[in-house]
Amino acid sequence: MRSIVPDYLTDVLGDVESDASGETAGYIPELAAADPERLGAVFATVDGEVYGVGDIDAEFTIQSISKPFAYAMALADRGFDSVLAKVGVEPSGEAFNEISLESDTGRPRNPMINAGAITTHSLVGPVGLTPAERVERVVQGLSAFAGRQLRVDETICASEMASAHRNLAIAHMLRSHGILAEDPRAVVDGYIRQCSVLVTTRDLAMMAATLANRGVNPLSNEQVVDQTVVRQVLSVMATCGMYDAAGDWATQVGIPAKSGVAGGLIGALPGQLGIATFSPRLDVHGNSVRGVSLFERFSSDMGLHVMEVPPTARAVVRSNRVRTGADGATRLFRFQGAIRFAGAERIVREILETAPSEPRVVLDVSLVHSIDDVARRMLLEAARRLAQDGHEVIFVDPEAMIPADLGEKLW
Ligand code: GLU
Repeated sequence: MRSIVPDYLTDVLGDVESDASGETAGYIPELAAADPERLGAVFATVDGEVYGVGDIDAEFTIQSISKPFAYAMALADRGFDSVLAKVGVEPSGEAFNEISLESDTGRPRNPMINAGAITTHSLVGPVGLTPAERVERVVQGLSAFAGRQLRVDETICASEMASAHRNLAIAHMLRSHGILAEDPRAVVDGYIRQCSVLVTTRDLAMMAATLANRGVNPLSNEQVVDQTVVRQVLSVMATCGMYDAAGDWATQVGIPAKSGVAGGLIGALPGQLGIATFSPRLDVHGNSVRGVSLFERFSSDMGLHVMEVPPTARAVVRSNRVRTGADGATRLFRFQGAIRFAGAERIVREILETAPSEPRVVLDVSLVHSIDDVARRMLLEAARRLAQDGHEVIFVDPEAMIPADLGEKLW
């Protein structure tokens, strides 16, 4: 049998191929000269499978797609408080290069607009790095997300630096508000180097898959950043990743995403996959025209919108009965499926409503295939309360889903 996903991708790429609307980024001379016909799309699953169609190994500069990853590095290196003191998390509703700072604090509104990204760049690495060391940290960090060594395209970097008047103006504003503590020119130079890192569509999909996989690169298995950082980054991508088209994107596509002016676009679907597309012609918001169309198709064809409400999970209580043996009566609860808060609440309610009178209560979780932390603690607390009421409580837990630390606090 032939694999299904590549055939699907080929079909969808064929459908958008003829759309020649939009323009390559005009304000960076080297990008304006890019081949506008290039088109590629890659799906990378969280277990490391890669499906790609089109120009998936052609290199182009990462541009603003570096922003969420540099934000992840800054959060990991400096901690949330230091980063949040300098960069907010509110969608600005404005264009990516708007000089949009909070009127009272002077903080850029979020790390996805240039003001926020320039500040974020300055927060990568420990305090006291030289600009060159910081760029090195950024390139190594981006490489860890991609799972291969990446490098800066010096030609594009020089081309952008030569016409970086607006970013320099933003950096000087930031310096005057005390948000940047260093020479604005050096920070912009570092930021533009960050934007000039060369990637392929395949790299971008792996980077997105690393976010989708709780910060673990699916191929190298390296934990690049921890889960709390990933949650913060995905939240900001979901609300601010598409600049002034963020609301349209959130409703129509519903995948945490980030675009770049070289034509790349990534989406990370938590727990499922990373998606990347490449097509250089941009719409008025600076987002890839055919990339946006591809994501709209992917989202609707495959139900990838994160707000899609899944069909109600199958009942978590599989059975509730009494077994009578030589040793007396036992109440036997058997649970199944994936248990999160709502499932655990259902289980606790079942136990309460049953009010077991039998001396022994068995909680059988052998058919439970996943349980999150709150559900695990709720089950332990239910067991503790049953024990307090005088029952002998036994877990049937062959896969050790519920490490039995009965002293653990629920809240
Ligand atoms: N290097 C670009 C800039 O700062 C990135 C913009 C983008 O990709 O949206 O202008």
